[in-house]
Amino acid sequence: MKDLIIIGGGPAGITAAVYAARKRLDFSVITKDIGGQAAWSGKIENYTGYQFIAGPDLVKKFSDHLSQYSFDLREGTEAARVEKKMAVLKSLLPTGKPYPQKPDRRLG
Ligand SMILES: Cc1cc2nc3c(=O)[nH]c(=O)nc-3n(C[C@H](O)[C@H](O)[C@H](O)COP(=O)(O)OP(=O)(O)OC[C@H]3O[C@@H](n4cnc5c(N)ncnc54)[C@H](O)[C@@H]3O)c2cc1C
Repeated sequence: MKDLIIIGGGPAGITAAVYAARKRLDFSVITKDIGGQAAWSGKIENYTGYQFIAGPDLVKKFSDHLSQYSFDLREGTEAARVEKKMAVLKSLLPTGKPYPQKPDRRLG
């Protein structure tokens, strides 16, 4: 069982993957493509760190960055749906005690 499954290989998913790798999590990225909307944007403006960059150039930088890490990449794969099997969401205070919270009715 993986620590984490990231669905999507756009900027958000790639950022999540980089940080998951840095934290040495055992994770998978399931995505139809790498780059997301940036892959089909001719030009990107005001993306953090770039006043201007061509979409394909930004996607290449995403791919190069991801290639620095070893993880299970399922490119060209669509996640059909997400199911929750266990309701194990729990927040802990720094003391280790559970944070008081209402039960989430969405969880089974
Ligand atoms: C024409 C255009 C121009 C833009 N110009 C700019 C700009 O100048 N500056 C700027 O900051 N932003 C711009 N944007 C917006 C920017 O591209 C988005 O904000 C950004 O891509 C969002 O990133 P994201 O990772 O949240 O989502 P997305 O980029 O949408 O990525 C989603 C990812 O999830 C994958 N995915 C979705 N569903 C599934 C599934 N069921 N199974 C597997 N994979 C799945 C997709 O294939 C994709 O890889 C532009 C967007 C477009 C379309």
